[in-house]
Amino acid sequence: METPALAPSLAPTLAPALESGVLSVAGLRKSYDGVAVLQGLTFALRPGECYGLLGPNGAGKTTTLRCALGLTAPDAGEIRLAGLPVPGHAREARMRVGIVPQMDNLDPDFTAAENLLVYGRYFGLAEREVRARIPRLLDFAQLVGRADAKISALSGGMKRRLTLARALVNDPDLLILDEPTTGLDPQARHLIWERLKQLLQQGKTVLLTTHFMDEAERLCHRLAIMDNGRFIAEGSPRELIAAHIEPEVVEVYGEPGEMSAAAWASAEAAQYATRVEVTGETAFCYLAEARPLLRHLASQRGLRYLHRPANLEDVFLKLTGRDLRD
Ligand code: ADP
Repeated sequence: METPALAPSLAPTLAPALESGVLSVAGLRKSYDGVAVLQGLTFALRPGECYGLLGPNGAGKTTTLRCALGLTAPDAGEIRLAGLPVPGHAREARMRVGIVPQMDNLDPDFTAAENLLVYGRYFGLAEREVRARIPRLLDFAQLVGRADAKISALSGGMKRRLTLARALVNDPDLLILDEPTTGLDPQARHLIWERLKQLLQQGKTVLLTTHFMDEAERLCHRLAIMDNGRFIAEGSPRELIAAHIEPEVVEVYGEPGEMSAAAWASAEAAQYATRVEVTGETAFCYLAEARPLLRHLASQRGLRYLHRPANLEDVFLKLTGRDLRD
């Protein structure tokens, strides 16, 4: 699909607007069949930051990204992407953005290099220009020597890296990634994290959705936790942990056939912990100071336990609950 280059009439408004923000969203609303999926979201990305959208399945993360990109029409709200109003000027705005969708949509009929070429054409880039960029992009994606490989010959991790490289073909200021590491093994995931950190160091802005709290904690300068189409918390990982959760956690596990951790926790840990949450055979004890509970646990037989600092997952589960969302 050919997309026209940026219309000259838009150029004067683009530069100053870009300085004021890569993406801003105000009062974003969307309903499907009378069900409110986005209920008035307001947020803005700061240039050079990594901003995360976290939320259980169905929270509205993908719909938010789609609206931001002008791929889904909102019912209400104002969106400016790369300084341009969306959806009105979505096509021009998307020229400044790199997109990594949830599902890899590389063209299976083409090689790795051809996928980059075809994508570059979509941005109106000259073939010569894209060809000149390909070695650097493949190097970035650790796919040197795979230029002529068919997509079907690439592993899941390689496809993800190629999709990331493809998103960089137009040298975008903003990268939008929908669950960039879902389905990848730890090695592949770590490589994607390293590459995203490199891009942030180069000054790019990143917006991502993720289900992985460790990913958000590693990468995001700020994040929003969403549920039912609303932001229920926003801040840096450290701020969110400090604001919403006790600093220390002791997880107590029962051994099958011995005293249940759940029974023990409801009977004893509650004396020491500010809050105890029981899931299956594990009791999560949240406390300001773990030492008294740890001393008590040391004298218990048949219980295993893990003492750790509170993390983003604790915040997420406290705010969104432990019930399954399918
Ligand atoms: P998330 O990405 O957080 O899992 P989504 O944005 O995909 O959430 O979906 C939010 C809600 O909107 C879900 O209940 C989903 O079923 C619904 N939804 C998303 N897209 C459509 C659509 N095209 N038609 C109807 N319902 C939709």
